[in-house]
Amino acid sequence: MQATPRKPKTTLNQLVAEFPRRHLAIASVIIAITFIALMLTPNESAQALRTSQPIELSLEDKQPEPDIPEPVLEIPWHEETIQNGDNLSKIFQRASLGASDVHELVISSKNSKDLLRLYPGQKMAFQIDDQGELQALQHIHNRLETTLYERNASGFSSTIIQREPEVRHNYSSAIISSSLYTAAQSNGLSQDLIMELANVFGGVIDFVYDVRAGDNFTLLYEEHYLDEEKLNNGPILAAQFTNRGETYTAYRYVHPDGSVGYFNEKGVSMKKAFLRSPVDFTRISSSFNLKRLHPIFKTNRPHRGIDYAAATGTPVFAAGDGRVIQAGYTKANGNYIVINHGTQYQTKYLHLHKRGVRKGQKVKQQQIIGWVGSTGYATGPHLHYEFLVNGVHRNPRTILKKLPKAKSLDESEKELFLTQISGLQVQLAAIKSHSQLAKTEQNTGSSTL
Ligand SMILES: [Zn+2]
Repeated sequence: MQATPRKPKTTLNQLVAEFPRRHLAIASVIIAITFIALMLTPNESAQALRTSQPIELSLEDKQPEPDIPEPVLEIPWHEETIQNGDNLSKIFQRASLGASDVHELVISSKNSKDLLRLYPGQKMAFQIDDQGELQALQHIHNRLETTLYERNASGFSSTIIQREPEVRHNYSSAIISSSLYTAAQSNGLSQDLIMELANVFGGVIDFVYDVRAGDNFTLLYEEHYLDEEKLNNGPILAAQFTNRGETYTAYRYVHPDGSVGYFNEKGVSMKKAFLRSPVDFTRISSSFNLKRLHPIFKTNRPHRGIDYAAATGTPVFAAGDGRVIQAGYTKANGNYIVINHGTQYQTKYLHLHKRGVRKGQKVKQQQIIGWVGSTGYATGPHLHYEFLVNGVHRNPRTILKKLPKAKSLDESEKELFLTQISGLQVQLAAIKSHSQLAKTEQNTGSSTL
């Protein structure tokens, strides 16, 4: 009985090389004896072979090789995807486990509450031994978080395994030729990032009326990766927007208490008391169509506000923090909302398709309070927006510059702020010079800056 020579594995070779010759000799003797025993009583010896570790080490070419199954190093994982309407019992049933297994797992582990919160699309992976007994369970919440339950002497232990995504910096830089939205989109920026860019500069730039061809922006933002695959975009770290010759720069700053804000290089907040335009401009794709977007403001005529033409359903934002003092419907106004911002300022929003807030409700700036429509006396879907100071209608497009100044960072935070943004300033400058060198309208790239 001559075994066919098998190519030894590298790891085996290494192990054998490290194995003292004397031991090797002893092992060989053991192997020979076991081999003879195998021939006499096949069943028992086969059992012995499976559990005898040194055998592996002596599987040299010269040695006769009995028919040994590969050692089972790990029970394979069997995966189940959580379906709509699933509960633990149903999933366990699919994995050929019974109610007693569910019970044992739930009563014995600390994190078992999590097992009752199952969401469709999540996965569970089971390790079931050949006795049909559950040895381990992975509850994969998402790609970053898994709870691992492992059998121990008293039941199951549980460990939460968390993975940190790798953070990379990416940038985008573009000159606007038709609209911010198209420039951003053709630059591959996601809807979320365009929205965030608009949020950062929403207090200083009216993205509906003020953006012009030749305006440009540069954006430095985080990207999160896991196993070389992009998971999602992180926050904007720094951004610059040149609007009609005026350049605004914003840096993301994390306060010592963990809250986040955007500030210019002097530490002045980008967040102003009022938004320049209270509609989600990202839904208005043709920003330069000024015929369609026609600002009307004449205090001596009945029409005392600005009209923002936008598709029905476009979100309408609260221009500033405040309280809803009216939310209702009239024949002329259609669905309308009035917000008080402190005692001096008031904003009104008319012709809404739907209202999103109730009378008496507190609102935050940028919070969605309703959706553009054409209810009441309206020829087409648009937002009619009014801005009042001490009860008098004012033009929000010109009055905003006269409103209270934005907050600056506290002096005590200045040093931390400057430390945080110094790296970002360097990166932003590098992107800018790179973009100018490239002399193209659009630039994107992952930064090794
Ligand atoms: Zn109007």
